[in-house]
Amino acid sequence: MLPAPRAVPVPEGVRSGAVPSAAELCPGGRPSPALPEGGERAGRRRFASWQRSGLAAYEERRDDLAGDATSRLSPYLHFGCLSPVELVHQASGRAGAGPESFVRQLAWRDFHHQVLAARPDAAAADYRSRGDRWRRADAEVAAWKAGRTGFPVIDAAMRQLRHEGWMHNRARMLVAGFLTKTLYVDWRVGARHFLDLLVDGDMANNQLNWQWVAGTGTDTRPNRVLNPLVQAGRFDPEGEYVRRWVPELAGLAGPSVHRPWRLSGPGRAALDYPEPLVDLADAALRFRRARGQK
Ligand SMILES: Cc1cc2nc3c(=O)[nH]c(=O)nc-3n(C[C@H](O)[C@H](O)[C@H](O)COP(=O)(O)OP(=O)(O)OC[C@H]3O[C@@H](n4cnc5c(N)ncnc54)[C@H](O)[C@@H]3O)c2cc1C
Repeated sequence: MLPAPRAVPVPEGVRSGAVPSAAELCPGGRPSPALPEGGERAGRRRFASWQRSGLAAYEERRDDLAGDATSRLSPYLHFGCLSPVELVHQASGRAGAGPESFVRQLAWRDFHHQVLAARPDAAAADYRSRGDRWRRADAEVAAWKAGRTGFPVIDAAMRQLRHEGWMHNRARMLVAGFLTKTLYVDWRVGARHFLDLLVDGDMANNQLNWQWVAGTGTDTRPNRVLNPLVQAGRFDPEGEYVRRWVPELAGLAGPSVHRPWRLSGPGRAALDYPEPLVDLADAALRFRRARGQK
């Protein structure tokens, strides 16, 4: 093993400054108690236990929002506490769909890092411009950030991000698609918010995944629009994920939690939960037209 370097040279033109305190970095001034423990030792412990409990079933369970069955190794990979090569080496020593799928996800990480190395401008500019003239929609963006869009699965995910500094991959795709395609707001607005709050916030993986979802990146189907209700039915069929993160809706049983607007009378009025921010069909039409589709 190589010893740690005594000093790391900083590229020319980068100014130095004081390292901000945790209080300055955290919303509310205090780090959330839900943040994972840092460091190599904690990362290794996490991988060892997840290898026993989650790796074999990873392929079947990785999209289950409520099951939360993914490795949660992303912060350790981002900060270099764990080496992706070591994880690939260990996982590929085991047979089955789970280890194979896990290695595939690590390959996405590598892919995005390579794309950014080849095109550093993609951190801030469209990788493939689609001629978008994004909307400025401050009130809608504020509702999205606060988890008050009126679409329960979107709101659950945004609240998980604020509380844990982490969000499930499927949920990241949904909230990013909602911002860029349903609200038709610039992907950079969402990417900035994610970088502010994510404990695994990573220039390559964040910016290029945002671009992938917005259709300005490497997705081969750049104009597809994910419907949050269809996705919620598929990946949170019993509504457990929503009830966990949106306490106002905790009293709604089963999948009905995904459509609180169907309640009527005093039950609806008592919920203190907003009406949907947009009509999904109108929003999809607006997006298709903006992209020059029928
Ligand atoms: C809009 C958006 C923003 C994202 N921002 C980030 C980010 O800032 N940092 C980050 O590490 N990941 C990001 N991702 C990718 C992915 O969501 C996270 O890596 C994953 O959810 C982390 O959880 P996990 O460790 O349990 O993943 P697992 O499912 O256990 O996967 C194992 C590892 O594979 C890598 N990986 C998995 N999916 C992806 C992917 N789509 N792209 C690149 N690498 C992947 C990660 O390093 C992850 O830790 C983003 C995805 C989207 C859609």
